[in-house]
Amino acid sequence: MKKKVLKLIFSGVIMASSSTIAQETIENFLKNQPIIDMHFHITKGYGDNEKYQHLNTDIDKAKLDWVMEDYKKNNVVLVLGGGTLKYAKMYAQADSLFWAGLIFPCSKTVEQDQPCEKEFYTESELGELYKMGNFKSLGESMFNYYGIPPTDRRLEPYWKIAEEFNIPIGIHADSGPPAARVNKEENPNYNPTYANPELLKPILEKYPNLRIYLMHYGGEYSEQSLKLMKAYPQIYCEISAVSMFMPKEVWEPNVKKLYSEGLGDRLMFASDYFDTVRKNIEIIYNLDWLSQKQKRDIFYNNAARFLELSASEIKEHRKKVD
Ligand SMILES: [Zn+2]
Repeated sequence: MKKKVLKLIFSGVIMASSSTIAQETIENFLKNQPIIDMHFHITKGYGDNEKYQHLNTDIDKAKLDWVMEDYKKNNVVLVLGGGTLKYAKMYAQADSLFWAGLIFPCSKTVEQDQPCEKEFYTESELGELYKMGNFKSLGESMFNYYGIPPTDRRLEPYWKIAEEFNIPIGIHADSGPPAARVNKEENPNYNPTYANPELLKPILEKYPNLRIYLMHYGGEYSEQSLKLMKAYPQIYCEISAVSMFMPKEVWEPNVKKLYSEGLGDRLMFASDYFDTVRKNIEIIYNLDWLSQKQKRDIFYNNAARFLELSASEIKEHRKKVD
């Protein structure tokens, strides 16, 4: 274990120092740079949150206002966000900034999921929700927290509807967080191994065109993620949380591998945690072995391709940051 970590640190240092690219300042770089955030959690507002509690007497609205302002400040022009029905609807209707959808499944015992109207929806219920066109994404997947594998039959309707409506799906594909850090009362059956992306294989065999993106690439399941991405050209990834919480020596070599394996054009920007947009922008910006073009691709172009944005949508986004 120790040896492996040392080796990782060593190779990370060598690779980083051998190919540093000259960089302009982050402020200059970000000027007119549209950004797509592929990972946001739509939740209720929290009355004790000091960032937004003063903005509106309706605390849900206060959170929405703060989030929209923060995204605007950071040139974010599109956000994929998942939540439970009530709040996913609220965000979907609030502004075209959000491509909202359902987390799956939600859990009645999880505070952040309140209100979890229904833990599992049927195929016809999902069909109704997605047919209306308000919902444009699915995820984050929560089945590892809930304690079931992706092949659980209660999840079948989600895969089916996602394929039918060509919906992008965010899959939690890292073994983190460690069991000790997960609230046992909220998630009594939490099983981190159910996030192993290898377990998606039978689902992809049945629905080979699913537009999946693997959340939290760069950690323990990096090899499995690479394999899946090689087998399915439409599968993309992002490195949120892993790149913010784990040592760079652990995840950076895995990001380099993504490029050396020819998959760098499938990496997208994501923040995941509330109030970390700027921090996550800096994490990508500080990867000084990437060219400016590669960084711009991560911030916008790769996601635009993955999401199949139209030329007019792209034009609209660029105009927003002009
Ligand atoms: Zn998340």
